[in-house]
Amino acid sequence: MSIPQTSSDPALATLQRVFGYENFRGQQQAVVEHVIAGGDALVLMPTGGGKSLCYQIPALVREGTGVVVSPLIALMQDQVDALTELGVRAAYLNSSQSYEQARAVERAFLAGELDLLYVAPERLLTERCQALLDRGRIALFAIDEAHCVSQWGHDFRPEYRELSILAERWPQVPRLALTATATAATSDEIIERLALHEAGRFVSSFDRPNIRYRIVEKNEVRRQLLDFIQGEHEEDAGIVYCLSRARVEETADYLVQHGLTALPYHAGLPAQVRAANQARFLREDGIIMVATIAFGMGIDKPDVRFVAHIDMPRSVEGYYQETGRAGRDGLPSQAWLAYGLQDVVQQRRMIDESDGDEWHKRRMGMQLDAMLGLCETVECRRTRLLAYFGETVAACGNCDVCLEPPQAWDGTVAAQKVLSAVYRLWRERGQRFGAGHIIDILRGKRNPKVEQYGHDTLSVFGVGADLSERDWRGVLRQLMAQSLLTVDTDGFSTLTLTEGSRAVLKGERTLMLRREAEKPRRSRDSSRRERPAAVDLPPEAAARFAELRAWRAAVARDHGVPAYVIFHDATLREIALASPASLDDLAQVNGVGARKLEAYGAAILQQIGAA
Ligand code: ADP
Ligand code: ZN
Repeated sequence: MSIPQTSSDPALATLQRVFGYENFRGQQQAVVEHVIAGGDALVLMPTGGGKSLCYQIPALVREGTGVVVSPLIALMQDQVDALTELGVRAAYLNSSQSYEQARAVERAFLAGELDLLYVAPERLLTERCQALLDRGRIALFAIDEAHCVSQWGHDFRPEYRELSILAERWPQVPRLALTATATAATSDEIIERLALHEAGRFVSSFDRPNIRYRIVEKNEVRRQLLDFIQGEHEEDAGIVYCLSRARVEETADYLVQHGLTALPYHAGLPAQVRAANQARFLREDGIIMVATIAFGMGIDKPDVRFVAHIDMPRSVEGYYQETGRAGRDGLPSQAWLAYGLQDVVQQRRMIDESDGDEWHKRRMGMQLDAMLGLCETVECRRTRLLAYFGETVAACGNCDVCLEPPQAWDGTVAAQKVLSAVYRLWRERGQRFGAGHIIDILRGKRNPKVEQYGHDTLSVFGVGADLSERDWRGVLRQLMAQSLLTVDTDGFSTLTLTEGSRAVLKGERTLMLRREAEKPRRSRDSSRRERPAAVDLPPEAAARFAELRAWRAAVARDHGVPAYVIFHDATLREIALASPASLDDLAQVNGVGARKLEAYGAAILQQIGAA
């Protein structure tokens, strides 16, 4: 067998030989060179951007072991398995191991037999572990998921704040902090806490061009979700995020009743059930995980084709992290969010009723406002999202706003009608008059409650017959989203005016509102043709791809690892398309490194009939 051509530059040579990739991506090369030369680095890269190679390659090139601090104990096994498949000498130390297993890892480290050692932060902070590290040779420290130092993020880990010890105890060892959380506040905190003031900063674009963002108006959300999955993602792996445990359970049940393979995941489930569901999601094809945000950090499954939110996330940061779990392999994927009036009401109330101090509430309020702004924008979603992270990009052509532009309309008069109706009813507060009641009054509908309270005699009765119920809901929702209308925390959720309402009522302010493009309900077939995943291969290649996948599934089962640890879909697709006739040809395929060529090359050629 001939060894594929490799570069004389040791970093590039390692990329090609071990990982089977032709070139570095984006900032990878700059980071790798900086760290190999002994520098510290702060690496901000979106999910799927390729952070792992930023520390794995320097760890292989520099002398000694790369020590990786990661909060993801449950995933360390998979990370180590994946590296082992590549012929990299990797191991981990965490609380899931027996004493003997840990001792064996320690011995290997001391003998200089490890390229990479994954360690849980609480383990690293023990004196025993630090003494161990002192006796071996450390190539670098990589602090993965570095945003866990931030007290304000939802992934806060107190142990992360104590990692400043690394700089004190091993000042000569390069440190890299890596994260996909991009706000300036978070990176400042990382720099401060991990003493990275002198570090090189490598900030990549956070754009994920292969993800299509869509935010739809919520009506019957479970039905909408089912249509979305059955119509556009049949047999695909995906994640559905919900805000509560109860909603996770009922949604998973609903999907299962409709013939889909869906599993629940939330912090209230027994640890074994969670672990088993996570393992199935990683190992089997086409599983839908219905989860709270407790699920997902560090899940590096590359072929998650969609991430759906059936409740509005609390912040743009959270939303971007969660949706970023789609399409790490770069193939077309979707982020789908259903959002409605109730989401706004609920989240505003949750903030009001939370026990945080005023500062904390204000912060949550600002995060919610940014999220609402994204939902209600008539601008490209991607432009809006990236602006939140300080990046400027033009309209993308791959989001719902670009593809089916909503209308912007002058809603000033409509808003005035809503606000004056609310003002009239507010005098009768103590009664529960929800959005539906207000809409009935505006549209002049005499329902029993309207008659009971004599609301058909109000001057606003029937003044809004010109707009549909759906339009009115949109007006109310957007007024709430912009804090021009709010709910009282009086226990009755009475709608009330806000400080901002007055300017609208007095006509001092024009209010441009958004109206969804009216679209006919698509039939299943036509939506399937619109499937964004350009996964279609020519028939012969498709047949080869199917055979390769079946072969991969068998090998993965044999080795007890997820299928993507053997080869990614993207690599199998390329093999199916290129139909290599020899090992040399096969070695040219992206994702086929020396070790995998040796281990699987012959079998692959046989599968595709070339041997
Ligand atoms: P992150 O940790 O930033 O989310 P990963 O390190 O898991 O991203 O990489 C995402 C995917 O991109 C992985 O499947 C990885 O194998 C692939 N990848 C990373 N760097 C390259 C590269 N230079 N060429 C080709 N594929 C790459
Ligand atoms: Zn767009």
